Amino acid sequence: TTIENWAASAELSNSYLLDDDVDLQAAARNTEEKGLPFEIAVPAEHGKLLQLLATSIGARRILEVGTLGGYSAIWLARALPDGGELITLEVNPKHAEVARENVAIAHLEHKVKIIVGPAIETLETLAPEPPFDFIFIDADKANNTTYFTHAKRLVRTGGTIFVDNMYLVGLVANEEYTDDNVVGVRALLHALKNDPEVDCTTVGTACYKGFDGFLYAIKK
Ligand code: SAM
Repeated sequence: TTIENWAASAELSNSYLLDDDVDLQAAARNTEEKGLPFEIAVPAEHGKLLQLLATSIGARRILEVGTLGGYSAIWLARALPDGGELITLEVNPKHAEVARENVAIAHLEHKVKIIVGPAIETLETLAPEPPFDFIFIDADKANNTTYFTHAKRLVRTGGTIFVDNMYLVGLVANEEYTDDNVVGVRALLHALKNDPEVDCTTVGTACYKGFDGFLYAIKK
C-alpha cells in the first residue's frame, strides 16, 4: 500500500467523523498565507485525538511546547472547561503572532497564553502549582529529553505527557541517520528505559504527511 492510500483513507474517515470546522480551516489558511510551514502542524485527526485525550482526563491546565500557528493549541484548548488554561511555548515571534491571530479566530483568547522564547528557558520559570493535567511536546526534537524532564516535574500524578514525531518516517531505528531530530528521539527513548516515574508506549501512525508515531506517557 502507499501513503496516498493512507491519506485518502484518513480523509474519508475525517469526512465522516470530524466536523466541517470553519474556524480551524480559517486558522490553517491564515497560517499558510502568513508563510508558516503548516505541513508540520498535526493533521486534523491527531488534533482531534489530542482534544479527546485531554477531555477524557478532565484536563483543566494544558501545556504545549511548540506552538507554530496554534493549530494543535486550538484543538487542545477546546477540551478545556470554563476557567481552564492552555500555556503554549514558541521561540519564533512570527509564529507566535500568527498563533495569536488564529486563537482569536477560534475565539479562545481567554483560554490560551502564548509565551515567546526558547522553551527550555520558559520551562525553567514554570512551577507545578497548580500542576498541568496534559502536556504536549512538539518542538525541536533535539531537546526532547529536557522537555520531557520538565514535563514530569510539571504534570500531576496520573496526568498525560504526549510527544509527537517518535518514529520520524521510520528513521529512528536506522543508525545511518544522525541528524539532530533523530538523535533527540533516540536520547529520549534511552532516558525512558526503566524510568520509574512514567509508564509509556509509542504508537506508529500514517497520515497525508507520511509515516510517524507518537509517545503516550502517564506520570505515576
Ligand atoms: N504543535 C504545532 C501544531 O501541531 O500546530 C506544531 C509545532 S511545530 C512542529 C514546532 C514549533 O516549535 C515551531 O513553530 C518552532 O518554531 C518551535 N520551536 C523550535 N525550537 C523551539 C524552541 N527551542 N523553543 C520553543 N519553540 C521552538
